Amino acid sequence: MISRVAGATRHRLGMESNVSESADAVVVGGGPAGCTTAILLKRYNPAAHIVVLEKDLFPRHHVGESTLPDANAVLHKIGVIDALNRAGFPIKCGLTYKWRHDRPMFTDLFSKGVHPNLQERTYPRGLPDHSWQVERGKYDEILLRRAREVGVDVREQTQVVGALFDPDEPERLAGVRYERRGQAAGELHARHIVDASGQARALSRWLRLGIDKFPLGDTALYRYYEGFRWNADLIGSFFDGKIFFASVPRGWMWFIPIGEHTASVGLVTRKSFLAGGTPAQAFDEEVEHAPEIADMLSGAAQVSHAYTDEPAQTYVVQDWTYRNERLAGPGWYLVGDAAAFVDPILSSGLNLAHNCALLVANAINTEWNCPDVPVAAVREGYEGLYREIYSSFLSMATWWYERRDTNISDWWKEAAKQARNRSTVVNLSDREVFLAFTAGYVTDFRFFNIGAGGFGAQGLNYIFDNLPDQPIQEKLHRPDMDVDSPLVPRFDRYELGAYYGSHVGTDRWWRLPSVTFECEGRRVPFYPSILESEDDDELLLVDLSESIVVRTLAHLDGKRGANQVARALQQDFGGFDQRVHRSAMKLMHNLLTVKLLEPAARTAADAK
Ligand SMILES: Cc1cc2nc3c(=O)[nH]c(=O)nc-3n(C[C@H](O)[C@H](O)[C@H](O)COP(=O)(O)OP(=O)(O)OC[C@H]3O[C@@H](n4cnc5c(N)ncnc54)[C@H](O)[C@@H]3O)c2cc1C
Repeated sequence: MISRVAGATRHRLGMESNVSESADAVVVGGGPAGCTTAILLKRYNPAAHIVVLEKDLFPRHHVGESTLPDANAVLHKIGVIDALNRAGFPIKCGLTYKWRHDRPMFTDLFSKGVHPNLQERTYPRGLPDHSWQVERGKYDEILLRRAREVGVDVREQTQVVGALFDPDEPERLAGVRYERRGQAAGELHARHIVDASGQARALSRWLRLGIDKFPLGDTALYRYYEGFRWNADLIGSFFDGKIFFASVPRGWMWFIPIGEHTASVGLVTRKSFLAGGTPAQAFDEEVEHAPEIADMLSGAAQVSHAYTDEPAQTYVVQDWTYRNERLAGPGWYLVGDAAAFVDPILSSGLNLAHNCALLVANAINTEWNCPDVPVAAVREGYEGLYREIYSSFLSMATWWYERRDTNISDWWKEAAKQARNRSTVVNLSDREVFLAFTAGYVTDFRFFNIGAGGFGAQGLNYIFDNLPDQPIQEKLHRPDMDVDSPLVPRFDRYELGAYYGSHVGTDRWWRLPSVTFECEGRRVPFYPSILESEDDDELLLVDLSESIVVRTLAHLDGKRGANQVARALQQDFGGFDQRVHRSAMKLMHNLLTVKLLEPAARTAADAK
């Protein structure tokens, strides 16, 4: 018997609730975050009843068309890379900014150098290092179809209208109420409810969760065009394309080719900047300030989005930069836009949706199947990690807003300053931030330590402070490690700690070692990457990870090189173990990359 109800207390359309069922998990919303969570949960628990309730009938229109390669590992895991490759989406290999009209273009490719340097993911090999610019109706349908294929119970045209709470534990969410178009309303009870309802934030409204908002762009006006001109300097080609951004007086614009002939063009601005005119007028005026876009659109025809018979129009969406105070609780998790959304300047929404859905699926699976892991630690781990990721993205977004100099309005700089005060400050040069941001480093799923991102925001500052001013390809390139040269610690001391983390190569959350280094008065958090997901026996390494870290650090006495340290470990562990060896080597390599270790030769040269 369910006692408390939030949301619709009465069913609309005069329908009685005549269906009452149970499932293991209910996912509210069948967008990218919802489908990813549901697919993974079903694959981890084939016997479980996983339901997705989606209010629309797919394919349906959605904004948010430019993706990042950092999501590819998750897309591979849910089994959609082939379908995406076959869908005929333009390949995205990078981005171009014309951010200040008095300055040259900022352009680079993450598929050639930047991304592989940062990622260095050994799992899984052979993933594409590009992403796609997608028509979202098609993209989201691929995901929904995949969910059905793996056995998820997907119900379209079914809107969740209320939340049900457990009478014995009032804080625990125990089900949802829904209305199915043209059919009876119903109740669905489940062990876990995942809110993936996007910016509708259905569950968090019923849970009355507080929200943090950030004063960047709050309104987007966007249109579709057919017959645009491919300007290779700005947007590359169909098989090697880029997103194009330009700053304009009232904000900034995007130009995304989503097909060979079709482009999505948007203006991000503020409601208050639109007073005294229509959205269409504002859009036209701002295009005039972006001559590169005006040129690509000359001769193109404005069209409507793919799923309507209505005439072409200027679409409007509003209010999006926010973060829910809480992201998980008894019986519930928030994921994707329902959890938080940064700003479209980063093209990060889908990447966050997929990666955080993985974290949530792994968290629920841990709650279901791993009694050794405290539930609270997993929920706190998810909230903490998401907060950190969000902060990094927010820093990046504000960085861009601060620098969009068009001599017309100081408003954006002020706004960026305010937002920055509430996020982690990342004080980087143009090149550095561009590199880190294009590669999506900030998704930093620490468990797997993707190079720079594996060190958290503070560690990142440390890395960037120490980077020499070199061309972009050199920036985060991992130094070659001379395995015989002595490695000299550049830190004064360190403390061992622990955190809970998860990763695309596993199906659960783990307790893992962390290290905080003290270095010239600064504390640098470090999350060693231990798990090599290609291996069959991950558990072994997770169990061993703390001792690998402790012993490796203990053997780093300034006299031994990586090979000697590895040999000493061999003795500690009673014989050669390939994975222990590889983990220790990787740990030393990472420390070298961020200059917490230095080769002795270099230290001597520096001293001269
Ligand atoms: C202007 C703008 C530009 C953007 N550009 C980009 C970009 O270039 N690249 C990028 O990666 N991201 C971009 N984004 C963000 C991106 O669109 C989102 O981050 C992404 O769609 C999030 O996926 P999701 O699954 O969390 O939510 P959604 O994709 O919104 O899916 C939520 C689903 O829930 C359903 N739903 C809602 N309420 C209910 C309910 N009560 N019951 C049942 N179903 C419900 C909805 O119908 C929808 O299908 C942009 C966003 C904006 C606002």
